[in-house]
Amino acid sequence: MGLTRRSFFLSVAALGSASVSGATLSSPDAAVNVKIWFTEEAMEYDGWETLRGHVERAFDPAGDRVIVEHGGVVDTSSEDAYGLVQSGEWPKMLAQGAVGGPTEPCDDVNLLVTARSMNEFPTGAGIPHVAAVGGAKALADLPPVEKCPEVVGWSNPAYALQVLLHECGHALGLDHRDGFMEPAGDELVVSPMVSGYPWETEAVREQQFDVERGSCGCEFVRPEGRAPRLMLVFSDCERERIHEYEGSYRPW
Ligand SMILES: [Zn+2]
Repeated sequence: MGLTRRSFFLSVAALGSASVSGATLSSPDAAVNVKIWFTEEAMEYDGWETLRGHVERAFDPAGDRVIVEHGGVVDTSSEDAYGLVQSGEWPKMLAQGAVGGPTEPCDDVNLLVTARSMNEFPTGAGIPHVAAVGGAKALADLPPVEKCPEVVGWSNPAYALQVLLHECGHALGLDHRDGFMEPAGDELVVSPMVSGYPWETEAVREQQFDVERGSCGCEFVRPEGRAPRLMLVFSDCERERIHEYEGSYRPW
């Protein structure tokens, strides 16, 4: 990752409170940093070690190009992950150091997990360096990563994890066309940046997912009765895009 602490603070400096600290350029092969915070309500579900294992595998099955850390517990005004990003509440907390404790924002992805059900839409949001997602209860029901295949049928926990990865992807500059899909018998395999979009209504797809071909070259098809089969790891192409990302533009 090309992002440095300096670029993070530069990008949040627009809010007028963050100081710019010293910069150390990271090498192109440097690990992606993912720091995960929880709301107080989300923290009541005990699933941190399992979640960390899944996020590590999703970014890098070999495990040496991602660092996943616990950020701490955050006192937010609601459990609406999407609203906490769109209103600026979560980005501002990061920028103003209001997250508390010894932790501070990391350079790449600062993800807040809330307790809101994944049945309530929208489920999350991601802007450069910052993301939030609901589903703490579902995430706590994930099996340990060593007992969980990389590609699985639909379940609440698997869907919550895929949406979490989707928002992390947005925080790293990926968009929906960076996703991958492939029909497999009566199922349609979808990567995190595609996720549930093929099964959405036409109105939602036209607005959010008007893509015929992925940037990896795969064809984006309609489910036509196929059931979702969820990749719980980023596709090769998504991983390449993640490691190419050098973005430092201002998210707000
Ligand atoms: Zn998206």
